[in-house]
Amino acid sequence: MPYLNLATIRLYTESEGPGKRAAIWVQGCQRRCPDCCNPAMQEIRKNKIVDVSDFWPLIADAKEKYQLEGVTFLGGEPILQAEGLADLAEWCRNHGLSVIVFTGYLYQELLEMNNPHVLRLLKYTDMLVDGPYIKELYDRERDWIGSSNQQVFFLTDYYKPGIEYEHHTHSMEINITDRSLQMNGWPF
Ligand code: SF4
Repeated sequence: MPYLNLATIRLYTESEGPGKRAAIWVQGCQRRCPDCCNPAMQEIRKNKIVDVSDFWPLIADAKEKYQLEGVTFLGGEPILQAEGLADLAEWCRNHGLSVIVFTGYLYQELLEMNNPHVLRLLKYTDMLVDGPYIKELYDRERDWIGSSNQQVFFLTDYYKPGIEYEHHTHSMEINITDRSLQMNGWPF
């Protein structure tokens, strides 16, 4: 099984796509956008290496426990780890979970890569949000999406176009445990 280099993971969130989801942030993105929400996840370095198959029981348990609707891949840049994420996306789809991917690449760029791992990841992706976050183009209309340059592609029928306009809000979650404080969603 391929490995993933993780930044962090949340097994339950309602701020990274429709419904209750697990969210997986991968480590490393070469774009270095100045307004990136996750600058600590930009550096391409070894962080937390996990065998993809180790996720399966974790996500299966979370699905049961939290009644998850799907998983979301973000970063960092998910496309840099397309091989592992394609396997994970396939497993999720085969177990009734939807898959959302946020990437800094444009959808057209992904197609033009003609990379088998990227194409496989797209095959198991229900909703793709493309392009980098640009602060000047801050998006007040759509849920979960940072800037108006970012496009949403519905690659399957799982979600209907327009779902990203249902709430007109960006939500933020704070998760406090005895060992850590995690924030996700929209921190502004
Ligand atoms: S593409 Fe996204 S994750 Fe990568 S640096 Fe830009 S905003 Fe951050």
